[in-house]
Amino acid sequence: MAHLNLTQVGTPILNLSNMTSKLEIFYQKTPLWMQNLAANVKGRLVACRRYSRDFYVALKELQSHESLTAFELEQLSISRLKSALAFALANSDFYRQRFHGFGLQHEDWFEQFVNLPLLDKMQIREASLIDGPLPGEWKVATTHTSGTTGQGLVFPCTQKQEQYTWATWWRYRIRHGLSLNERCAVFGGRSVVPLSQHKPPYWRYSNATHQVFYSMYHLNCETVIDYLEHLQREKIRWIHGYPSVLAILAGLLLDKGIKVSGVQWITTGAESLLEHQNDIISKAFGTFPIDHYGQAEGVANISMCKNRRYHIDEDYSFVELVPVMGRAGIFEIVGTNFYNNAYPLIRYRTGDLVKVGPPCDCGLAGRVVEDIDGRKEEGIRLSNGTILSRLDHIFKDMTRVLEAQIIQRSDLSIQLRIVKANDYTSEDEYKLLSEVKMRIHLPVHIKYVAKLPRSSTGKLRFVIHEEF
Ligand SMILES: [Zn+2]
Repeated sequence: MAHLNLTQVGTPILNLSNMTSKLEIFYQKTPLWMQNLAANVKGRLVACRRYSRDFYVALKELQSHESLTAFELEQLSISRLKSALAFALANSDFYRQRFHGFGLQHEDWFEQFVNLPLLDKMQIREASLIDGPLPGEWKVATTHTSGTTGQGLVFPCTQKQEQYTWATWWRYRIRHGLSLNERCAVFGGRSVVPLSQHKPPYWRYSNATHQVFYSMYHLNCETVIDYLEHLQREKIRWIHGYPSVLAILAGLLLDKGIKVSGVQWITTGAESLLEHQNDIISKAFGTFPIDHYGQAEGVANISMCKNRRYHIDEDYSFVELVPVMGRAGIFEIVGTNFYNNAYPLIRYRTGDLVKVGPPCDCGLAGRVVEDIDGRKEEGIRLSNGTILSRLDHIFKDMTRVLEAQIIQRSDLSIQLRIVKANDYTSEDEYKLLSEVKMRIHLPVHIKYVAKLPRSSTGKLRFVIHEEF
């Protein structure tokens, strides 16, 4: 998925990558107490912005939609779509020109809407989507996505968008019995612990957001017991992370014959939850992962219900399932955001594919989909045997990289194949290599290419293993 996320594209991860590369390198060199202090300060800032009074208003409103019928939910969604379109036409020369002649002002606007051209990331990389300066009261922050293809996109995000996103996620978590005060162990892709550190603690605290961040880069068969002991010492009942990372954690524990008790919730996001990951995680922790789909652009969110089925959150954005040519029964998720006035996206292509599922009897009215595809990723193997996945973090903020692919050879060396944007400079290369070296202690070199080969569905494989 354009997957990713406030990374998130979609996960409650400490956003250290908001820092500049230099600041991050500085963070890596500071003593432990200062790193925990930095994580706490950052956590407090995140909590202030994300969980202000308006967040609770949004959460209450979204929870009140849970009892709506499918028809009522559809009407609500169409009415918000109408407002989003009217806003774009009034405030964006980009959309006025793009939609010129489509007759969106007329009674039959909705019939015209489905004929509007689809929008993709390449078309908006350089575009200004709003006329004039952004009003201060929108409290705009910068967010970013990397995507599995490595195409970075940096864009403005209003506080309202952020609050509705988190309210949507918390509505789904609360459905599953979680509370806002529950402490969360996070296993994500960010480098919160320097690679030069070879002993515990492989975690950092963010008390304001009730999170403990664990480093995936230090997780291997020798360190896994340190992780387990810490989880137990902290009495962690909720683990959140990328499915690929939690599957590695689960696999390492099972290899040692350990099944963990006391964990009540495992939530996953940012990557497709694969069947074998689901199995191995539930085997190690005695509970099935609960999953959701989202992306930093905020044009679609899909949450798992108590029956373990995926429901579209119809009040979060206007989601269209557009048939994929030549693939019967497969649809692309295309979405229009409702809450981000600083960056309206209309009929935006996520590149992520789904099938339509049969109805669910859980009581939620949102459409049911299955087999969300687009976030499937492979990892690279480090010399100590650790499998490292979720490497798209390396390309976060690399807006002058058009496409990227990682090739690992049998001698473990890494080649980064990069398609440069015209304005790519040696500074970008330096930044890219710094990001890589922070995470991977293997020989790495960059090869610049004009384009990367694509599959029949137009997708890029992000990681490839080659025998040499
Ligand atoms: Zn359901």
